[in-house]
This record gives sequence, C-alpha cells and structure tokens, in this order.
Amino acid sequence: MDTHPIHYCDSCGDTDDTLMAVRRLYVTTLPPADDTIRAGDADGAGPLVTPGDTEVWCEVCRIHYPHELMGEQV
Ligand SMILES: [Zn+2]
Repeated sequence: MDTHPIHYCDSCGDTDDTLMAVRRLYVTTLPPADDTIRAGDADGAGPLVTPGDTEVWCEVCRIHYPHELMGEQV
C-alpha cells in the first residue's frame, strides 16, 4: 500500500502542500513590573517569548503567527 498521507495544519486544520514543521512561539508583552525600572533600562521590559510545541503549519499560519522554523518540509 502506498497511500500518500494527508497532512493537516496543526493551527487551522487546513490541508496545504506548503506545510512546514515549526515551533510555536508564545509572545507575551509584559507590562512594566513596577516603577523601579529606570528609563532606558531594557531589563524586565519588552515581550517574553516562550517556545511551545513543535507543530506543522501551513503558509498562512506561518505568516500570521510567531514561530520558529524547524527547517523541515512535511
Ligand atoms: Zn494553517
């Protein structure tokens, strides 16, 4: 049996021939913890990026959502 498996995007569920393995990145914009953070002190400010699970995404989802390419075409 040589059936070609159908792959689905793990994000939107669509089928696509441009599916790529990616690692989802969760980006959280942190508010300033308190006013002990001095102006010009970048520590503690800015987005927090948390890597998530490896998923398979279509091209549209790769355009719209933050991710890290795993460099592997599915
Ligand atoms: Zn998708």
